[in-house]
Amino acid sequence: MNFQETSTLSPNIVARADHNISRTQISENALKVLYRLKTAGYESYLVGGGVRDLLLGREPKDFDIATDARPEQVHALFRNCRIIGRRFRLAHVQFGGEIIEVATFRANQDVARQADVDDAHNDSGRILRDNTYGTLEQDAFRRDFTVNALYYDIRDFSLKDYVNGIADLRAGTLRLIGDPQIRYREDPVRMLRAVRFAAKLGFRIHPDTAAPIAALSALLDDIPPARLFEEILKLFLYGFGRQSFENLRHYGLFARLFPRTDAILDTEEQGFPHTFIAEALASTDVRVNADKSVTPAFLFAALLWEPVRQQALVLEAQGMHSGEALRHAADEILPEQISHVALPRRFATPMIEIYQLQPRFAQRDGKRPLRLLAHPRFRAAYDFLMLRAAAGEVDTELARWWTEFQNVDAAGQSSLLNATPTGQRGRSRRRRRRRETSPSA
Ligand code: ATP
Ligand code: MG
Repeated sequence: MNFQETSTLSPNIVARADHNISRTQISENALKVLYRLKTAGYESYLVGGGVRDLLLGREPKDFDIATDARPEQVHALFRNCRIIGRRFRLAHVQFGGEIIEVATFRANQDVARQADVDDAHNDSGRILRDNTYGTLEQDAFRRDFTVNALYYDIRDFSLKDYVNGIADLRAGTLRLIGDPQIRYREDPVRMLRAVRFAAKLGFRIHPDTAAPIAALSALLDDIPPARLFEEILKLFLYGFGRQSFENLRHYGLFARLFPRTDAILDTEEQGFPHTFIAEALASTDVRVNADKSVTPAFLFAALLWEPVRQQALVLEAQGMHSGEALRHAADEILPEQISHVALPRRFATPMIEIYQLQPRFAQRDGKRPLRLLAHPRFRAAYDFLMLRAAAGEVDTELARWWTEFQNVDAAGQSSLLNATPTGQRGRSRRRRRRRETSPSA
């Protein structure tokens, strides 16, 4: 199919009576913005994930609005409005904790190139700036997937569909708009978005949309690490991380983001495949879906554990203590890793602490367990220990002991301390289970 941005296509229109979106499901703040734009004489539509998720009967993560008003014109209508963005300028209207993103209709880059306006590509076709304003129809064609390009019109509550998005939504198909090769080259992050939406929605990536990914995956190397960090959080911390991971591995994308980890995943250790990350992500999904807190520090601790653990074993063999070895190993692996995916200091520091506390769980003599329990990072380190126990890396007796130790009163604690077999009280007694337990508990 060839979408001509300059022609005028008439969209499929789904009347209010023929779709399931009702205003009661849309955030009041989004409605406020939609109505105020309309009253001021602008077009305004709900678009993107909000429309997609409501049509699927899911609760949207956020609400995005598209309008023909320019960012400055949006700004003039709302006191609580900021203009953000470098790649493209957007208006953010803030209501307490909720941000409504308002984007001005934009045209596809080809139109921009012909018109020689504010547009820039690099040599591989990547869009560096994208501030070419356009019509509603042009805005539809520059979006990524057909199911993300449905517009809910606040004037009559109908849906406008220029790209057969409704049919794809019904069929559970994720399909890029236009030529997939070109669209991925314009913005390689769309490859990550494809696997993310497939994981989140349980959709099948259309074969034409899936086909170029393996060959183009290396384009992710040129994406700023800070942007990839944001994408990683969206892939792994919203309740479908395990499936995202399987998809990333399937399409060869994980290797571009976490190369050291990926290389290890392709090997077996003592006859066992590496299942640690899959287990960690599955347990993170359970936490997210139970509305428990999750942190990037813990996520990255899990994603980088295999290479750090293996490197620490090498350092330990050279005589370094296990806690030190883990810190050094992390220090060796991080600089290369953050050249791919950023990890802000405020998360890297607690991540390394989670690692360093691991060997201390094996030290159950004297006041050591109580000191560990009082450590500000105890909880995260303990959760990490549990993952390692589930992966067969840590003695289950030790894991059970710590679960009990933190849940009993002082008397219970001292009887647990006294009952600990002397052989297990000393400094990291090594035990061989599925794999060498050190550097560890
Ligand atoms: P969710 O918010 O649930 O993660 P979403 O589809 O709303 O999913 P956003 O990142 O909020 O995703 O983007 C809003 C909309 O903007 C998308 O639905 C899509 O139409 C458009 N969009 C976002 N990123 C891109 C991109 N890289 N290329 C083209 N269009 C994009
Ligand atoms: Mg969104």
